[in-house]
Amino acid sequence: MDVTRRGFLTISGAVGSGIALSSLGINLNPTKAYANELNKMNRVRTAKQVTTVCCYCAVGCGLICSVDKVTGKIFNIEGDPDHPVNEGSLCAKGAGFFDLTEANKYRLRKVLYRAPKSDRWEEKDWNWAFARIARLVKDTRDKDFITTNSKGQIVNRTESIGHLGSSNVDSEECWLMSVISRAMGLVYVDHQARV
Ligand code: SF4
Repeated sequence: MDVTRRGFLTISGAVGSGIALSSLGINLNPTKAYANELNKMNRVRTAKQVTTVCCYCAVGCGLICSVDKVTGKIFNIEGDPDHPVNEGSLCAKGAGFFDLTEANKYRLRKVLYRAPKSDRWEEKDWNWAFARIARLVKDTRDKDFITTNSKGQIVNRTESIGHLGSSNVDSEECWLMSVISRAMGLVYVDHQARV
């Protein structure tokens, strides 16, 4: 829909008159999003502000968490402009930090398992998952563990298992996973952030 300057002023007047613009075929979603953002800004202004540091990598960017004083819950996380490392900016991982909090209703809370050749996911509990992972790792190492290479040198490695770390793994968890993987003789160890 083309809107002339006069038409725009007419529409602007219509807003003041409380006429529903959506009935004119105009998409109000950006306006609603802007209004929601204003509400969020007001909440941020009145919230308790807590500073912390992003856990994902050694850069150590500063974050500000806004905590609702009534519910005690975090409702916004953004870069800290006063932090000397990042001065308010964040990479994509840090910028998505809020999605890790319990406020994200889409966050995975259960183990999802898809059986070989199946096209659907099943919910499983953690004990089931731990037992299955342990069984598969043990069976694979028993079957495929390599003690020496073609030159007769001791290598003690497992080439049939790979480990790929997730983007939601922090520095300390990466270290832990790396140590555990090496202890089991894994050589194919990688991380999503590097890929
Ligand atoms: S925001 Fe990005 S660059 Fe900064 S610490 Fe987190 S992961 Fe590292």
